[in-house]
Amino acid sequence: MRKLIAGNWKMNGLKADGLALARELAQRMEKERIACDLLLCPPATLLMAVAAAVNGSGIALGGQDCHTGTVGAHTGDISASMLADAGCRYVILGHSERRTDHHESDALVCAKAKAARAAGLIAVICVGETAQQRDAGQALDVVARQLAGSLPEGLSAAELVIAYEPVWAIGTGRTATPGDVAAMHAHIRAGLAGRVADPAAVRILYGGSVKPGNARELLAVANVDGALVGGASLKAEDFWAIARAGI
Ligand code: PEP
Repeated sequence: MRKLIAGNWKMNGLKADGLALARELAQRMEKERIACDLLLCPPATLLMAVAAAVNGSGIALGGQDCHTGTVGAHTGDISASMLADAGCRYVILGHSERRTDHHESDALVCAKAKAARAAGLIAVICVGETAQQRDAGQALDVVARQLAGSLPEGLSAAELVIAYEPVWAIGTGRTATPGDVAAMHAHIRAGLAGRVADPAAVRILYGGSVKPGNARELLAVANVDGALVGGASLKAEDFWAIARAGI
């Protein structure tokens, strides 16, 4: 399966640096056309400008969240159709930072995923256990529960990406061992059976302190179909090195 390398810029980037980053990646892609898919998820303020900067390069654009509704009185929110209108093909949903900062439940993530689908977006649904849950031996159960609660029924593989992001590995410099990643990704793949018509074709990304130095090892693990990259996606050179590690 062609790997997907996604950059989650989070709440980082003003116009000048965001555009410089997007333009540099677009230039590299145009020159090298590496055999993996690249996705940039900048903050909402930069979506239109980044869409223009990567236009024609093959790099896809995604939002970092969306509302469950389409239009209406929801101050500060953005709908999935607005993201699509801004040039997005993807939207990240249920990132652990949103689950924590905004108390997002599995049911809310599921409703957002339905809205994403209705707008024609591919939902990148994030799951992952905390350090406490892992230490208590609950990691597999927690992720199974998140998957069961966050995935709408009837999605096809083309409409869905799963990102396994152990919370304790996000932005901490700690990564899961290849063995732990292999076990969790196999567990997720098995959990998709019965929920998605073609589970083998769903891309399952690993996220959590992916860097140029560990990307090759992590991307070589069975059932790892790409990476969701936070901090290292803010430097073109690092993000590109991670993408090259996936081919
Ligand atoms: C993320 O936020 O999705 C992430 C994986 O962050 P980092 O790569 O910085 O750990």
